[in-house]
Amino acid sequence: MDAIVRGNSVAVNVGGVMVGGGHPIVVQSMTNTDTADVTATANQVRDLALAGSELVRVTVNTDEAAAAVPKIAETLKLYGLAVPLVGDFHYNGHLLLKKYPECARTLAKYRINPGNVNIGRKHDDNFRTMIEAAAEYGKPVRIGVNWGSLDQTLLTRMMDENAKSAEPLDAGEVTINAIVESAILSAEAAERYGLRRDQIILSAKVSAVQDLIRVYRKMAARCSYPLHLGLTEAGLGSKGIVATTAALAVLLQEGIGDTIRASLTPMPNGDRTEEVIVSQQILQSMGFRSFTPQVTACPGCGRTTSTFFQELADRIQTYLQKQMPVWKESHPGVEEMKVAVMGCIVNGPGESKHANIGISLPGTFEEPVAPVYVDGRLSRTLRGGRIAEEFSQMLEEYVETRYARRSPAAV
Ligand code: SF4
Repeated sequence: MDAIVRGNSVAVNVGGVMVGGGHPIVVQSMTNTDTADVTATANQVRDLALAGSELVRVTVNTDEAAAAVPKIAETLKLYGLAVPLVGDFHYNGHLLLKKYPECARTLAKYRINPGNVNIGRKHDDNFRTMIEAAAEYGKPVRIGVNWGSLDQTLLTRMMDENAKSAEPLDAGEVTINAIVESAILSAEAAERYGLRRDQIILSAKVSAVQDLIRVYRKMAARCSYPLHLGLTEAGLGSKGIVATTAALAVLLQEGIGDTIRASLTPMPNGDRTEEVIVSQQILQSMGFRSFTPQVTACPGCGRTTSTFFQELADRIQTYLQKQMPVWKESHPGVEEMKVAVMGCIVNGPGESKHANIGISLPGTFEEPVAPVYVDGRLSRTLRGGRIAEEFSQMLEEYVETRYARRSPAAV
C-alpha cells in the first residue's frame, strides 16, 4: 500500500462525522422507503445505522417528506441512535428548504444535484437558494453530479467547443470532462454564494467502472474537496457488488475517496443493509478500516464432500455480524479478530495458525477429528457430533477473555 497518499482533502464535519482530511473513510447508505412514512423510514435508518452506516441519506422530494424529517430524527432519538441524516434534494429542494426550516435544521447535510437545479441556465436561483440555506443553517453540502442528469447546457457548450478544436476528443471523453467540470464549477459557485470550502463534498457518479475511475482521477487532480465515491446504478446481486468493488478498489488504492456508498439494487424484499456490508468489506479487505471479525474459509473441493464446514463458516460469520452492534462498545478491538474455518488437513492447520482462532475440519477419509488453534497454537482437538457447538463456545470464550472491556477496578 506504499502508493497511497491520504489526507490531502479538506475535512468536512457532517453532524459530528468527519469526512476527508485524512479521517477514516466513511461508510454511508440510503433508504428506499417513502420518507413521508416516518416509522418505515426511521426503522430502515435504524437498521442501516446498526449495520454500520455512519451517515444515512433520505429522499426529500415532497412536502410530506420534508415535514417527516424532524419526526424521523425524533424517532431515532427514542431508539437511542444519533446517526446523521442527509437530505437528498432534486428539482424542488429550494422550495422545501425554505418552507420547512425544521427539516433544514435537522438534516446534517444536503445533497444537491446541479443537473436539476437550474445551474448554468438563465439564473442559478434554485441552486443559490439551496446553498444559501446551507450557509444559513451551517450545513455542509454534497454537490452530486450524476451522468444521468448531467447539466445539458454545459455538456452542449463543451461539445460545441470540442467540435471546433483542432484535435477534437471523442464524445465519451467530452462527457467525462463535462461531468468533472459540472462538479467543480458548481463547487466554485457554492463558495461564491456563501459556503466555506470545508462545507463542500463532491461526487460525480457514472455507471461504468472505467468511466468512474477516469472521472474521479480527473476530479481528484483538480480539487481538494473531499470526494464521495460510488458507482451509480451498480445493479443487482453479484454484478452490482463486483462492479462497485472493482471501481472503488482502484480509486481507494490511489488514495482517492473520503466516503463511499455501494448503490446496490436490492432483490425484491431484500435486505437494504447489504449495501453497508459491501462497503465495509471493501474497506476491511483492503486494510483501510476494520468493522467486523473476518472469517477465512476455504472454498472446499473434492477432499471434503460434506457441507458441514460451509454451514459452520456461515454460522460463525452470521453470529459475528449479529454481535457487532453490541461488541462495538463492550469488546473493543474484536473487529480485528480473524477466525478460520477450513475444510481439511491440507491447508486447515496452516491457515488456522494464522488466525486468532481457527478450526480444521476433517476431510473425506480423514480421521474424524478437528484441531482448534488459538493464537497460533493447538488448543484442543474436537471430535464427535458436537464439533460446531464446541467450537462456537470456544470462540465466545476467546472473545470474552481477549476483548471484553474491563472496568478500571478489574484491571
Ligand atoms: S483446505 Fe482442504 S477442503 Fe479446503 S480447499 Fe483446500 S484441500 Fe480442499
